[in-house]
Amino acid sequence: MKKTNKIGLIDTHCHIFYDKYKNDINEVVARAKAEEVNKIICVGIDIETSKKSIKLSEKFESIFATVGFHPHEAKNVPSKYLDTIRSLLEVPKVVAVGEIGLDYYYEHTDKKQQIKVFREQLELAKDLNLPVVIHNRDSDNDLYDNIKNSKVNKGVIHCFSSDVNFANKLFELGLIISFTGIITFSKELQDVVKEIPLSKIMIETDSPYLTPVPFRGKRNEPYMVGEIAKKIAEIKNISFDEVVDVTTNNAKQLFKF
Ligand SMILES: [Zn+2]
Repeated sequence: MKKTNKIGLIDTHCHIFYDKYKNDINEVVARAKAEEVNKIICVGIDIETSKKSIKLSEKFESIFATVGFHPHEAKNVPSKYLDTIRSLLEVPKVVAVGEIGLDYYYEHTDKKQQIKVFREQLELAKDLNLPVVIHNRDSDNDLYDNIKNSKVNKGVIHCFSSDVNFANKLFELGLIISFTGIITFSKELQDVVKEIPLSKIMIETDSPYLTPVPFRGKRNEPYMVGEIAKKIAEIKNISFDEVVDVTTNNAKQLFKF
């Protein structure tokens, strides 16, 4: 990949706490560094993986963590989970509440419980003045209503896959969106990217899922995030450096690191 300027890339969303990274985590972090991915946000999906993400942030300078309950796991929240999350959010390199949200596609947890856990964590984020990292699958309307009601006004809808109208509604609430490797192979989403201002975009790998072209079939890793920047540059007909500059600054502004 073409070497960029000083600012470097940020993989704003990945799950490298999984066992499939256990044996070569040092190399994963080193490979990212070599491709000028200077920061990596490891996103928790429950208490255990939030703690694992924090451990990684303590071991590696470039890694930061988030703490939260994913909608898939919302059925398993322990009774005092909000207290636990609140205390984990005090750890220095924890930058956001997440991954929280709604998923009506898989619906691993029933909708009512998903909404309850989502709402509680939104309120916590609002209370602590922290940004949120939000997951959304086939749940645009309920997601929007809950964010709006919570008055949360900073955060990201990660792996954005809705349409331009919905993106604009989120921008009005103060949120931004991020794109994954899906934009390297989905024509539909490429058309969305074209319409969204760069000032509202961050980039992410969502490792280990959603490996970008040309690495399809391989395990996804943070170093591959440059492929998403490259694709955005191509779609918008602007320079790779501009995409890196702006998306990295967007991330710095949101996560305050
Ligand atoms: Zn995720």
